[in-house]
Amino acid sequence: MPAFRFSNEHNAFIKRCSACEEVTIGVKDQERSVFLFMRYYSAKKLSVDGFNERCKKCHAAQVRLNHLKRNYNLTQEELDAIWEQQNGLCGICSTQLTRTSHAANSVCVDHIEGTTIVVGLLCVHCNAAIGLLKHKPENFTKARDWCGRRVVLLSNQERKVG
Ligand SMILES: [Zn+2]
Ligand SMILES: [Zn+2]
Repeated sequence: MPAFRFSNEHNAFIKRCSACEEVTIGVKDQERSVFLFMRYYSAKKLSVDGFNERCKKCHAAQVRLNHLKRNYNLTQEELDAIWEQQNGLCGICSTQLTRTSHAANSVCVDHIEGTTIVVGLLCVHCNAAIGLLKHKPENFTKARDWCGRRVVLLSNQERKVG
């Protein structure tokens, strides 16, 4: 296993990712390199050198895959297939989705509560909206009617004012 070590060639501490095989190069100072290599997520019990075998990118990818598997029983390929079906658009508002996390249009996997049955992909806002309406279709109908009612009230007001 390519452990954290000093490389004369690089004149710095280096470590190779076991998945993508990319070499992350630290600096000459071990302590400061250790700080840099924290991005390997220390897993002291599992690793020969106290770092994760995978680089940050590969580790994050694995965490995502584990999350998909655990929460939705989905593989990356199955998620890609759903993405293709929806052309990468939110199933409700048709916003172009992104796989980057923490964006307003980040992809959310909508699933039936308490199961791993996937309904489809939504943006963060639509996913939150249906959650706030407690996933009850009757609430959506009422919400839609409410939106219409507000327009009526505004025109009544206009009539009174006029
Ligand atoms: Zn990697
Ligand atoms: Zn949306």
